[in-house]
Amino acid sequence: MTRRVSIFGATGSIGCSTIDLIERDPDGFEVVALTGGRNVDLLARQAKALGAEVAVTAHEECLADLREALSGTGIEVAAGEAALTDAARRPADWVMSAIVGAAGLPPGLAALEQGATLALANKESLVTAGPLILGTARDHGATVLPVDSEHSAVFQALVGEDMAAVERVIITASGGAFRDWPIDKLASATLEEASSHPNWDMGQRITIDSASMFNKALELIETREFFGVRPDQIEVIVHPQSLIHALVGFNDGALMAHVGPPDMRHAIGYALNWPERKPLPVERLDLARIGQLEFRAPEDARYPALRLAREVMEAGGMAGAVFNAAKETALDGFIAHRLGFMDMAGVVEGVLTELSGDTGLMSAAFTLDNVRAADHMARIRAEEIISGAKTPKRSATWT
Ligand code: NDP
Repeated sequence: MTRRVSIFGATGSIGCSTIDLIERDPDGFEVVALTGGRNVDLLARQAKALGAEVAVTAHEECLADLREALSGTGIEVAAGEAALTDAARRPADWVMSAIVGAAGLPPGLAALEQGATLALANKESLVTAGPLILGTARDHGATVLPVDSEHSAVFQALVGEDMAAVERVIITASGGAFRDWPIDKLASATLEEASSHPNWDMGQRITIDSASMFNKALELIETREFFGVRPDQIEVIVHPQSLIHALVGFNDGALMAHVGPPDMRHAIGYALNWPERKPLPVERLDLARIGQLEFRAPEDARYPALRLAREVMEAGGMAGAVFNAAKETALDGFIAHRLGFMDMAGVVEGVLTELSGDTGLMSAAFTLDNVRAADHMARIRAEEIISGAKTPKRSATWT
């Protein structure tokens, strides 16, 4: 049976891997919407190759180029934030949410409102608005499937299990580009050094977030939201080979580990074929050749983002939206050479400390408008700190 699919963030790393799988089964899928940002050439090529109904760029100023690239094809074109959400309202059975950052939330919600199965790579959706995403899915009979490799691994380890028997969830971290650097050298890490990942081939932003472990910090919060486990049940372990993606510990002492190659097409393919398993074009691991697997505890001084994520989970409410927005702004600052690598955590902590005093904001109900307001406030505060207009407040715990 042909399934109607849409891919949000088609021109990115996850989007391209999703298209790679879809192109291998041309009769299995009908492509509804493909979206991108500034990479209009690639978006137009993808739309033509897949015969998409509509191609949408997030940026109005890119529309003319997209229109020209697709003229005469019959493929509709559109641009802007509202157009992304409109595209997500087009009936589709399966929607990949792979826009990077908080911009992925509104189209994801719109896809759930039309009852689609949402394959969620955009972890920011759950971090900023977990109850809103999962509540919208429940209200509309829609399904949310994890695509982050760790969460896909936990999801697979839980098949047929009773959540009441789960004692702990362990997510693994490669440790990123600087896992073996002396800690006192981290402050001088350059953009180029932070943008190269030892194991995974990913977009630049998530690669830098892996080096700082802000990515793992988001995943801690994502784990809490997705699986409903308590913060004290979630552990992070550094596993440099990135072959075990996560483990689930049960009340009889068993640990179920998910082992697979560091290739996102596994987790994407699992979500695409769920609830079935189908052959996927990923490497089959040769355990004898691998020989050994290594694990170590993450060091607090190297990865301050993990402590901040735990404080965010304790605080709840809009803390996730504030955390993510401050992190995105700090990351922009690092990419623009306005901040040092280790300054990013200081900016995020400063914003959290300051906004935690605004109880009206932090405990507001989970609506898209409130999440956006928290996001907006956090970006303003983060920018003030980065531009030196404010000195970040630091507290042992900001909650
Ligand atoms: P990329 O940076 O490679 O791609 C991001 C995509 O989003 C591109 O299509 C980009 O368009 C588009 N985009 C960028 N900004 C906007 C915006 N403001 N509005 C709409 N679209 C926008 O990211 P990844 O594929 O690496 O990651 C995507 C998501 O998946 C992230 O949330 C990430 O955390 C998550 N993820 C990624 C993994 C990976 O291995 N890459 C693993 C697990 C999760 P363009 O490039 O055309 O400008």
